[in-house]
Amino acid sequence: MFIDIDGVIIYDPGYLSDVNEIMFLPGVLESLCKARCHGYYLVFISNKGGVYSKKGFTDMELRKMDKYISSKLIENHISEKSFSTYYCTHYPPQLCSCRKPLSGLFEKAVAEHGIETNKSFAIGDKLSDLIPGDTIGCKLGILVKRNQEYFDDQSETSDNFPRLNSLSDAINFILKQNDNQ
Ligand SMILES: [Zn+2]
Repeated sequence: MFIDIDGVIIYDPGYLSDVNEIMFLPGVLESLCKARCHGYYLVFISNKGGVYSKKGFTDMELRKMDKYISSKLIENHISEKSFSTYYCTHYPPQLCSCRKPLSGLFEKAVAEHGIETNKSFAIGDKLSDLIPGDTIGCKLGILVKRNQEYFDDQSETSDNFPRLNSLSDAINFILKQNDNQ
């Protein structure tokens, strides 16, 4: 599973740049653990370039936040071997091939972890989180509400991707689909 971070697993206030502000959304850690139990490798991919350019966000802060997120996952029985995090720290007008909706980081994860893309899913609160999944041949992309119901819902909608309330709903939907096969 390829999963967006801000607004999907943690609360996104719009410019998160401080490890002390990280708040996991309700039910997320339990759901990720469930996905892991069903054999899914978890890949978290985030664009971090915008924050860099606007707020003077540093590598050190990003590393701190990454470390915190990883420690929370591990604390919740999602072992170090069962997930990876990838960040694009480039920002426009810098050109790169990894900033979503481009698929560079998705491809890197596939190569590094031997992921079978046709059995994989992408989950995010923006179309740009799902487009790279399509590019690499994921089975399905699922659009979820930004910050669940904790914020005015400014999420995008699309005819191409089913839209659900939360990461937990998306994971339940995926596991149910597999049961029906
Ligand atoms: Zn990049």
